Amino acid sequence: MAKTGEPQGDTARAMEEKAEGRLRELFEKMPYPASIFLFTDEGQNEPFNQAAREVLHILHRVSPKIQIKEYDLGHEQARKWKIQSSPTLLFDPDRCKARWLGAPIGEETKTLIIALQMLGYRTTGLSEDSRKILKKITSPRHIKVFVSPTCPYCPQQAVNALNAAFERPDLISLEIIDIQVNPDLAQKYGAQSVPQVFANEKLIAMGAQPEELFMSSLEKMEEQRIYIPESDAAELETDLVIVGGGPAGLTAGIYAARSGLKAVIVEKGVLGGQIATTPVVENYPGITQVGGKALVDIMVEHALQYSTIFPGEEVMEIQPGDPILVTTNRRRFKTRAVLLATGARYRNLGALGEARLSGHGVSYCSTCDGPLFSGKKVIIVGGGDSAVTEALNLRNINVDVTLVHRRDGLRAQEHLIKSLQSNNIPILFNTEVEEIRGEQQVKDVLLSDNQTGHKRTMKVDGVFVAIGYDPEVGLAKKLGVELTPDGYIKHDSRHRTNIHGIYAAGDVEGGYKQIVIAAGKGSEAALAIFEDLINPYWKKSVKGMGEELIAESS
Ligand code: NAP
Repeated sequence: MAKTGEPQGDTARAMEEKAEGRLRELFEKMPYPASIFLFTDEGQNEPFNQAAREVLHILHRVSPKIQIKEYDLGHEQARKWKIQSSPTLLFDPDRCKARWLGAPIGEETKTLIIALQMLGYRTTGLSEDSRKILKKITSPRHIKVFVSPTCPYCPQQAVNALNAAFERPDLISLEIIDIQVNPDLAQKYGAQSVPQVFANEKLIAMGAQPEELFMSSLEKMEEQRIYIPESDAAELETDLVIVGGGPAGLTAGIYAARSGLKAVIVEKGVLGGQIATTPVVENYPGITQVGGKALVDIMVEHALQYSTIFPGEEVMEIQPGDPILVTTNRRRFKTRAVLLATGARYRNLGALGEARLSGHGVSYCSTCDGPLFSGKKVIIVGGGDSAVTEALNLRNINVDVTLVHRRDGLRAQEHLIKSLQSNNIPILFNTEVEEIRGEQQVKDVLLSDNQTGHKRTMKVDGVFVAIGYDPEVGLAKKLGVELTPDGYIKHDSRHRTNIHGIYAAGDVEGGYKQIVIAAGKGSEAALAIFEDLINPYWKKSVKGMGEELIAESS
């Protein structure tokens, strides 16, 4: 019998069939076959060989346009293409110079499907700006992208790299490297967080980037953080632009569209926000327990039925007015209202060495980077639900984890604390991390007992930080939106900010941080926006946080 909270057998099968049907349709329309060579060596990473084989065979079964050939590492094809590790996928070498060292499982299956479409349609779907940037490249780029199957950020960066390699096969070659299959390579490059991108052996990007930023980083051979479009981007008209694709934004998208508004959701990073990297979500109504990413996928799927989502796209500027102009790195929206559902970003510890060793043993995402520390020793800092859930997740994947907390008690839920105890995870109370040390990678931490002042060094391979979140208000501040003394967006009971037409919803507004609350705020904001927009007095009388209209519409 299926466990409570998991999709029941029939539902799961129906979902699988639906997904297969969609893939079949997608592949059948491809004008060309997509061919992939799989290289394996029996005995070398056998479970991953088998997993790669199974994924490819399923896809071939869905459509014969996916053509698979398997060779062993002793075969002359392996020598010809200089393939040395098992499993390796080689994408049609007549079309591009791209290979995959590992098995495209978990999150990475999406990347594989996109790669197959690039082969089958012989086009990348890159923006004009990205193409222009790539055209400026005049010397070879050998890209290595480190990914893990459990990392929801990784497909975005792997697809960026595939796009580059497919677009410029003359100069760009690519290796997508699965860190679970190739821990030695990850170690060699000091790639202790994913995704990380190296070009010609130089680190050029950490974390997922919007497409144009990736291409600029590749062109300039240095991580770029801001991309200003060169051309006049395409312009779209809509009723509501929702900034942020977490639970608040996705729910707002559904409710706005159901009310009859034309709504778009723009998300610069990973859809789902914080939940995408939460190992386990408990007690979202109707679901006792579910993986964070699985819940995101369900929400995204639902939101897509109603709103258009622009993932990997960053809002650069919002100009209030009538209409409001929202400029992203790809296009411009003319809209009647904007909902800031920008959520929150993880908090930094502020310890010495933290920033320098971030990505080299310091991590903020156990779901993404945990597998790199299997069999190794780490600490996790924090005392809330996140720290405890992530400690349990790390223990589950064979990481030797100690929880470090600055107080003498945890604030996490009781049953999580019990799990921590039953898993014998050591806890250091009243302890603060003063310094994280190591040259290239984390080697040890300097811990201080805040009761006795006693300091000691602890040898560790990694430091996971799970100390809560701060509201993401950069865009709001730039726009002149008023904030509360705690740094959240100030809003009235109808989610209006001080600026006409600009609203807020979710964690960025403060209050309890629960997924169900963020979703609730998103739906409430969408309904309030709808009522404002259809109210004939809206234009004249609402100056943001307008009491007049509250009286009018209540
Ligand atoms: P949180 O509840 O705010 O806890 C943050 C923890 O980090 C606290 O223990 C805090 O210590 C500590 N901390 C903060 N700043 C620190 C610093 N500079 N140095 C050292 N320690 C520091 O954050 P969270 O655990 O990320 O949870 C956020 C929300 O998500 C919560 O509402 C939680 O319930 C929810 N959540 C739910 C689930 C679920 O499955 N239902 C899973 C994860 C998270 P103090 O105690 O001293 O303040």
